[in-house]
Amino acid sequence: MAKSINRILSIDIGGSHIKATVIDQQGKILQEYTRVVTPQPATPVKVVAAIKTLVKDFPAYNKISVGFPGYVKDGVISTAPNLGSKYWNKINLSKLLTAALKQPARVVNDADMQGLGVAKGKGLELVVTLGTGFGTALLNNGILLPHLELAHHPIAKKLDYDEYIGELVRKKIGNERWNQRIKKIITVLKTVFNYDTLYIGGGNAAKIKFTLDKNIHIVNNKQGIHGGAKLWQQ
Ligand code: BGC
Repeated sequence: MAKSINRILSIDIGGSHIKATVIDQQGKILQEYTRVVTPQPATPVKVVAAIKTLVKDFPAYNKISVGFPGYVKDGVISTAPNLGSKYWNKINLSKLLTAALKQPARVVNDADMQGLGVAKGKGLELVVTLGTGFGTALLNNGILLPHLELAHHPIAKKLDYDEYIGELVRKKIGNERWNQRIKKIITVLKTVFNYDTLYIGGGNAAKIKFTLDKNIHIVNNKQGIHGGAKLWQQ
């Protein structure tokens, strides 16, 4: 009889890369992160095919957790601002991946998955990710609250958060002005959410150059890996 396994294939779908790893129930990494460039155009068929190839030599797993850069409800995608929303309207990615990889897949927003990994489970915790887009997750005592696409709420004139502090903009305006903008949005988030703790992750978090309040912490992507395991405990 086959030995029962309890390993989770954890996938992060991003605008530039798709990354995958295998973790155990405690979030311990059993297979180093491997990544491929996100196919262009990033249609569901191409993305699923890229994932299939990426994980084909991975060790066995019996659950799949996926973080997706857009609005997801019950495993169904409605928007994908950095992949092309026109391809992803009402796409049941959970079903597609379950069929392609033959194991049950849970799909949530990418920042929500990261948030589950970094939050400590105490009070109101806001997790934001700074990368191509602006990801946000809100948790109350460790329970993930309904996802808000805050990235697309206008923050300045006609600009939403992605257009105000996303990676494309940082490259254009430089680190100094970008830091000023980050300062401003932290003030806004503090007033709007009254969070107990704010975690800032994503590739650009390390580019923050000013002193943060005591209840604000910079986190690295590795700290978010537990999210793939936590998703199966929610
Ligand atoms: C998307 C969010 C996503 C974030 C980070 C934004 O553009 O709207 O859903 O979490 O980028 O990938």
